[in-house]
Formats: sequence, C-alpha cells, structure tokens
Amino acid sequence: NGKKLYLGMDFGTSGARYALIDHEGNIHAQGKRDYPLYMGECVSTVVYLINRLPSKKVGKMEWIRSWKDSLFLLLDDVPVSLRPVVASIAIDGTSATTIIIDSTSGDPLCRPYLYNESCPDALPLVKSIAPPKHTVCSGSSTLCKLVSWWNSCDSSKESAVLLHQADWLLWLLHGKLGVSDYNNALKVGYDPEMDSYPPWLLSQPYSHLLPSVQHPGTKIGCMKEDIRTQFGYPKDCLICTGTTDSIAAFLAAGATLPGKGVTSLGSTLAIKLLSTKRVEDARYGVYSHRLDDKWLVGGASNTGGAVLRQLFSDEQLKKLSEQINPLEASPLDYYPLQAVGERFPMADPNMEPRLHPRPKNDVEYLHGILESIARIEAKGYTLLKDLGATPVEEVITSGGGSKNEKWIKIRERVLGLPVSKANQTEAAYGAALLAMKGACENAASD
Ligand code: ADP
Repeated sequence: NGKKLYLGMDFGTSGARYALIDHEGNIHAQGKRDYPLYMGECVSTVVYLINRLPSKKVGKMEWIRSWKDSLFLLLDDVPVSLRPVVASIAIDGTSATTIIIDSTSGDPLCRPYLYNESCPDALPLVKSIAPPKHTVCSGSSTLCKLVSWWNSCDSSKESAVLLHQADWLLWLLHGKLGVSDYNNALKVGYDPEMDSYPPWLLSQPYSHLLPSVQHPGTKIGCMKEDIRTQFGYPKDCLICTGTTDSIAAFLAAGATLPGKGVTSLGSTLAIKLLSTKRVEDARYGVYSHRLDDKWLVGGASNTGGAVLRQLFSDEQLKKLSEQINPLEASPLDYYPLQAVGERFPMADPNMEPRLHPRPKNDVEYLHGILESIARIEAKGYTLLKDLGATPVEEVITSGGGSKNEKWIKIRERVLGLPVSKANQTEAAYGAALLAMKGACENAASD
C-alpha cells in the first residue's frame, strides 16, 4: 500500500499556494507563487499599445495565462521524489470568479469575471427571477456575471459552459468539462439543501451553461495522461472537486464538529461556525454554506485589525499588549470602525465609530479596544445562536490578531469559552484535506 500524500492548491487574491500532506495531516512540502505580473490591466494597456490588439482581449488572456502558468509552476514545485505518491489533488479559488468557455474548443469566450467585479446591468433581471434577498441578488454574484455575459454576447451561446476559477483549473488537470462543487456554485444559485438547481433558474434560457455539481472533495477523474507523464505524477492520481478560498481556510483550521467556531482577526473580523442547522439573514449578511451534513454559518463585522493599524504599528501592538492584564475587565466601551456603518452583528449603515474617550495611557487604550472587539465577537456568536445556529462551544482563531496571546486571554474571559490559535491557516492546507477526503471515499467505494 505504502505512503500516500494529498495535494491541495489555493488560488487566492494575490497568488497561488500548495500544501502536500499525509493522512495524519503532517505537511511534507508547501510553497507559493505570485501570479505573473503580465496579468495587470496597466500592463495590458502597454501590451495593447505594442501589439495593437484590442486591450480587452489582451486583458482576458492575461488572467487566464497567469492562473494556468501558476498551476503548472506549482505542479513543478512539488518535490520530484514525492510526486509518485500523490494520491489526489483538490483546488480552491476565489468565490464568484467566473470563466465562460466554449465546450468544443475549451477556449474562453470572454475575459474572466473576477470575484469582486460587479455587473449591475444584470441585477434588475436577476432580482426579477430569484426569490427576494437570495444570495444571487448582488451585483458581484456569479449569476449576475452569467446574465451580463448572456445579454452582451451574440455568438457561441449554445456551446458555452460556465466554470468557477477552481473548476476551470481542475478541468485543466482532468479534462471533463462542466463540473463544480456546491460551495462554488452557491452564488450562481445552486440550492445546496435540495442538492439541485432551483426551477426558477433551470427555466432560464442560459441554464445549459450551468455546471454539474458535486460535494466538495469528490473524485472527478484521473489526471490527464500527458500532464502526469510530463511531471511524474502517478497513473491513479485523482482530481477532486474543490471549494472557495475562505471555506478552504476554515477547513484548514480543523473545526470539524458542530459548535466549533473560527474567528478570523485580519483587517476585519469574520466569524464562521459549524452548525447542524442552516441559518440565513440578509439583514446581517449572514448565510450558510453546506459542508456534507452540516452548515458553515458566517458573518463579517467591519471592526477588526484595520482600526488597530491606523492607531499603532504592529511592533507597538506587541509591546503594549505585553503590559495588559487580560484577567482584568477594561471599563472602556468602544465600537472600533474604520468608517461609518456596520452590518454584523448589528445592522446599522449609520453607525459611527466610537473610540473615545482616549486615556492618556496607551496600554489602557489598547486594552479597551481589544476588549471592545472581543465583545463584538461575542455578540456575533450570540446572534448566530439567536438565528438558530448550533451554540458555539469553542473558538479557534486565525489572521494577524491570532498571534496576540493577551487578546486570546481577554477573549476567553469575554466569550466565556476556550479560545486557541489555529495550527493551520493556509487555504491550501484545507484544499489538501478535501483531496484526502476524495481519495479516501474513492478507496472505500472500490
Ligand atoms: P488581512 O485581513 O489584511 O489579510 P492579516 O490577517 O494579515 O490581515 O492581519 C493583519 C492585521 O493584524 C492588522 O490589521 C494588524 O493591525 C493586526 N495585528 C498585527 N499584529 C497584531 C497584534 N500583535 N495584536 C493584534 N492585532 C495585530
């Protein structure tokens, strides 16, 4: 039988990473590639001037080339000696990054639509067909991108197929067109509870573009022969469905039981909680992704580390935090925001940042801010419980704020729960866990 390894790849906003793990979750190799620079719009303009090609066309080809090159660079970065024991591969990509390709040639029919791109032109139509407050009713949803393309394009419509970034990269490896997962497909309108596309979507003229949908971490097929022989991957190397980058990061943290929460303390504060019940509330921007028989419930506040960075350098944060007594409650009550407006756990577009009064002593000031953010975190978990989610029992933390031991102690006191720092935070590690799942399920079904 021998040792088997599982390869996860993450295509994030700034670059691509890989992680190669064994069955126990130990990392055997990992690495990163920045996306090649030729993808930028400014660079495209220069290329346009040189090549005298339509700039839009150059721009589209540059993204595609950049992701594809990064994929093959990562396959080549995996140590040669380990490639023969790679049992499976899974990939995550940015949510709602959309590519429409021609099913006969495999060529892209337009430039990719990026995760944060908005197609407001499609919004009235999408709102008229989808249930009120559905997740597709946002200009940056995959469905708005699809409708926008459908309404502006006048050829190749019949043979077109829609893929998300992760689906497309996986397709380059397995060659079966039109396969996705229900995490990536949520924003195109897939119903993960029914495990099907809803009738209001299937009745649309562009429904033939929608990819078939599998659970994340499901075997799609084996690696294409030309690729595996070129790079030295084994004959039975499985290519498995992936997920979105933020779900992959959640999976990396290792919260596998209902009641486990992951708080990401980066520029903003985002919480994700594994729940047995699905919870949605558009007012607070709360929605759920399916994870097998459970739900990943999430909400994001505008508070977080960005406010800290406006006030203190990371070095100051470290020095000042060391002097905080986390067992003592701070009397200061703030609502740290970078700008006016909050969504979760309080929906108030007019909420003003509150960072006063500022005490003379910066240690006291920071203590007050960290404790106030911890109270917002606690309110977040309480709101999810009030909306019907499984109550949180334990919190794992990722992001720049997770290295602050004093903050962890403050949060334990305010939340009244055990809080710890995540051992693994890379989305690529989460994707590798999905690859492992796909390989194990496949072995069990053989
Ligand atoms: P991003 O969301 O931008 O990826 P990161 O996860 O890199 O953010 O975290 C960066 C944030 O972490 C910064 O806003 C910074 O203020 C915060 N941070 C850095 N060091 C500390 C610290 N010791 N304690 C609390 N917060 C910190």
